[in-house]
Amino acid sequence: MNNEELWQATLAQIQLSISPANFATWFRQTRVLSLEGGRVVVSVSNSFAKEWLENKYGKTILKILRSLDEKIKEVNYEIGQSELRTTKEGTLSLPEISQLDLQDFKIQKETNLNHKYTFENFVVGPFNELAQAAAWAVSENPGSVYNPLFIYGGVGLGKTHLLQAIGNEVIKNSSRKKVKYTPSEKFTAGVVSSIRNHSIENFKLKYRAIDVLILDDVQFLAGKEKTQEEFFHLFNNLYEKNKQIVLSSDRPPKAIPALTERLRSRFEGGMIADIGFPDYETRMAILKTKCQERKIIFPNEVLDYVAANIQKNIRELEGALTRLTAFRKLNNQEPNLEVTKSLLKNLIFSPKKIVTPKRVIKMVAEFYDLKPKELLSSSRKREIVGPRQVAMYLLREELKSSFPFIGRQFGNRDHTTAIHACEKISKNKEKDNKLDEEINLIKQRIFSQ
Ligand code: ADP
Ligand code: MG
Repeated sequence: MNNEELWQATLAQIQLSISPANFATWFRQTRVLSLEGGRVVVSVSNSFAKEWLENKYGKTILKILRSLDEKIKEVNYEIGQSELRTTKEGTLSLPEISQLDLQDFKIQKETNLNHKYTFENFVVGPFNELAQAAAWAVSENPGSVYNPLFIYGGVGLGKTHLLQAIGNEVIKNSSRKKVKYTPSEKFTAGVVSSIRNHSIENFKLKYRAIDVLILDDVQFLAGKEKTQEEFFHLFNNLYEKNKQIVLSSDRPPKAIPALTERLRSRFEGGMIADIGFPDYETRMAILKTKCQERKIIFPNEVLDYVAANIQKNIRELEGALTRLTAFRKLNNQEPNLEVTKSLLKNLIFSPKKIVTPKRVIKMVAEFYDLKPKELLSSSRKREIVGPRQVAMYLLREELKSSFPFIGRQFGNRDHTTAIHACEKISKNKEKDNKLDEEINLIKQRIFSQ
């Protein structure tokens, strides 16, 4: 492997663990300048990137490099020219990697939509059927069937894909329709900056002219009061004009903390559809579809291994394919089952997936918008007692922790407190759908991220 191939293989792996936008920002303009005596010098485009790579990704980069070449001992970063390299024949060049995943960057300026997300390449199975059907109906008749359409589900399960597919389909049917896809954080940033620049009226006008507004990940509006207020008025304005509103979230409206009641009831006023975990058949179908898109073939036993082992996140399924594809291109050889196992080792058995009590507590706290410290405290406040009992219940059910252990975790309480909490939650779960659903969503987060 020459330096360039080495670096491309490293990038191919890094790409799996970070968002496409981050990848483009920090890694797109990097290359290896030299490799001597175990020291790799990487060229970066500016000092900001240098710092970021050193501090945030340094360890990961070194680890990946060493897994490819154990003689490597250190990595240095130098600010160099930022030109993209030209493609050399036979090597995995950056443009090729970009075809694997960075299609994410062909984003339409006006609409913010990415062409790669369509209904055609969205695989439907029992776990996402309802959401897909609702999304399709909305795209054929925006503003008149389900308004708003609210889709929720765990990470990497296709929410963004479906939302963008709606937008792309609407435009395909009628190019005059104004569609806008906006991640909620971006909407919030827009509100904040337009207030600062005294251009809030412009901001409002711009959004009010939209026919189909798609707001992704609305759980991020939690606690942002001013943004919620602006969105509430915008929502009403669009709704009254029969304009379509599509929303997504990692949880149902009821479970979004710090959301004003009036907005919550708007969110609940239309159609709510969830996306669950894909079954084995659908995972296989997704893999096969992605292989077709990438015009690449893998042996069935390889795909079977991937589908059997990566169960809770479709983005990770894609990540596995990217890794296998990179191997194939670099080595000019089809990965067999053994190779696949070793290539996907850290994807499948990643330490992130080892669930610890600490992780359970952190996820429960995050879900209810509390700090882990509050969960562990002795506070008797209602908004803390409930979530604390849920955390105790999950430690028992999911980690099989003993009652005395659970008691000790939560401020040295007696084991009878833990028993009581677990019994209470199991009982309430039976009759309280909302609680049952919350617990399922927390479990998704504990196991899928
Ligand atoms: P979310 O927004 O729920 O976190 P995404 O929509 O970003 O998830 O999906 C993650 C990746 O998985 C995307 O690349 C998407 O294209 C792919 N994906 C998700 N669901 C499907 C599906 N049903 N069929 C094909 N690809 C899918
Ligand atoms: Mg998303």
